[in-house]
Amino acid sequence: MDDAERKTRVGNRPDLSAYWMPFTANRQFKAEPRLLVEAHGCFYRTEDGREVIDATSGLWCVNAGHARPEIAAAVNRQLLTLDYAPSFQMGHPLAFETAETLAAMTPAGLDRIFFTNSGSESVDTALKIALAYHRARGEGQRTRLIGRERAYHGVGFGGISVGGLVNNRRTFLNLPGTDHLPHTHDLSRNAFCRGQPAHGVELADALERIVALHGDTIAAVIVEPVAGSAGVLPPPKGYLERLRAICDRHGLILIFDEVITGFGRLGAPFAGQYFGVTPDMMTMAKGLTNASVPMGAVAARREIHDALMQGPAAAIELFHGYTYSGHPVACAAALATLDIYRREDLFGRAARLAPVLEARIHALQVRRNVTDIRNLGLMAAVDLAPREGAPGARGYETFVRALAAGALVRATGDTIALSPPLVATEAIVDRVVEILGEAIDSVA
Ligand code: PLP
Repeated sequence: MDDAERKTRVGNRPDLSAYWMPFTANRQFKAEPRLLVEAHGCFYRTEDGREVIDATSGLWCVNAGHARPEIAAAVNRQLLTLDYAPSFQMGHPLAFETAETLAAMTPAGLDRIFFTNSGSESVDTALKIALAYHRARGEGQRTRLIGRERAYHGVGFGGISVGGLVNNRRTFLNLPGTDHLPHTHDLSRNAFCRGQPAHGVELADALERIVALHGDTIAAVIVEPVAGSAGVLPPPKGYLERLRAICDRHGLILIFDEVITGFGRLGAPFAGQYFGVTPDMMTMAKGLTNASVPMGAVAARREIHDALMQGPAAAIELFHGYTYSGHPVACAAALATLDIYRREDLFGRAARLAPVLEARIHALQVRRNVTDIRNLGLMAAVDLAPREGAPGARGYETFVRALAAGALVRATGDTIALSPPLVATEAIVDRVVEILGEAIDSVA
């Protein structure tokens, strides 16, 4: 242990040096750690005993609030009944039940479910299914994958390649044969817009130009219906509809990455239903188990699934899957979670709370250095002007000050994002926005 490592041993705190933290400034964090030790409902408790509002649903995932006893009981029961069953060439009832329950919630026609363990795995699974589907139909030349600038589709090689966040891509080998639509954030025309921007439907026409270039070598187009990690970018009015029409015209599979927008974030089960635009496949994770146990899923149109169910019945149709696909404990957590969403009408509750978040967050327009504010459903973001020569510093300091004042918000660069649990109340939203406004004003 060197001096720097020794310094991280504080009180009962474990040594912090062995854990290589994901998407974290490790040295900065370990110099001034922020540890959470408990969670209940919409609140975390920090290591030093302070209660903090969870204004981000963890990482956009604890939609039903923390420590739900129904989920804990289901997980506990399952661990003692069937803790694991092989997922290849064997099955267990809960996986089938979970798929059926999920298929009843997804947009009409998307009723074939493949289980994964994360959003990243769901994205790579959906991209692979798209390639396999075209090949099965005799269009094996369709191998290109189209994403969008500023998109986040997780961290697999497929996901980063169709993703559009340069920091996530530049260090790593990217898949060949990918291309990107322009992002839809247009500050000159849509600044401080409430809900979907009025301008920018024509940005979908970039797909026609990509088709003109690559023709029938394109397999699929993947977009987040509302870009989340890049700072809450709702689609311009009519944009998703136009993407859908262009995909139909040219035989492209349209994939919605609903890892954030799924499970009520917009006040509907999925963004597909909220916008009235049905993709051919959708990816899910996060809210599927209320983040209690890692789990992801891909829902595919039945025709996509059926196109692969050919050849001898003894042949494996898709050479893809995970040891933990449909893990019994994850299934138990998912079923308990989906039951909570239904029984407590949490998607309806999110829809009712969304106008409150919209009204409160836009009141921050008058605060220091605020350059834009966006929102849709229970997602909202505030952009701060980057400090000269120190991009991201203002966002980070605002995040740290808000945390000290009692609210966990999410900072990516100089954007602060909020995604409160669907069980949040008007009073919680009020308090979060009050804390955030003061934090913003306190940062030079
Ligand atoms: N896709 C989207 C839209 C996401 O927001 C995320 C995570 O935030 C992912 C994929 C990746 O999910 P995971 O971190 O579970 O791999």
